[in-house]
Amino acid sequence: PSHAAMEKEKTLAMIKPDGLSLNYTDKIRKVILESGFDIIREMMVRLDAGNVTQFYAEHSKKSFFPNLVVYMTSGPVLIMVLEKPNAISDWRALIGPTDSRKAKVSHPNSIRAMCGLDSAKNCVHGSDSPQSAAREISFFFGDILPGFVKHDEL
Ligand code: ADP
Ligand code: MG
Repeated sequence: PSHAAMEKEKTLAMIKPDGLSLNYTDKIRKVILESGFDIIREMMVRLDAGNVTQFYAEHSKKSFFPNLVVYMTSGPVLIMVLEKPNAISDWRALIGPTDSRKAKVSHPNSIRAMCGLDSAKNCVHGSDSPQSAAREISFFFGDILPGFVKHDEL
């Protein structure tokens, strides 16, 4: 394989409030590690409406946005930086489609099929491009923190 193909890449993964409250963390962590990702950063945080608005700025005009804010502020989330070659698209493939109901049909082995409920409550997040990954990793682990409440850092 070429050097480029072996180069490690980082992506931002998140276990959303429903994934945590339904106790899927250990199962999801197991899938992550068995799929060859290294978990290089991990942090539990509680997001407020401002954090969610900033993180999901691209969706702020969508009709589902108010519900997204309620959902994402309903409990703590677990933020992880995953690393491996092709991490960004491999993690997106592993979590499956946005709508967990569709995931259960078309991608039954995906994480969203395992622990999500519908198009809103889908238990995990993954960066969708190198640009998003860079932005989202610095959002949570950069020097300028947006003021979210850190729960017990792991
Ligand atoms: P993804 O998380 O797969 O990248 P999007 O970026 O399109 O999906 O949406 C961000 C999040 O907003 C989704 O993960 C989901 O929680 C919520 N969401 C997306 N589309 C809808 C929808 N049609 N109805 C309700 N919530 C939605
Ligand atoms: Mg997205």
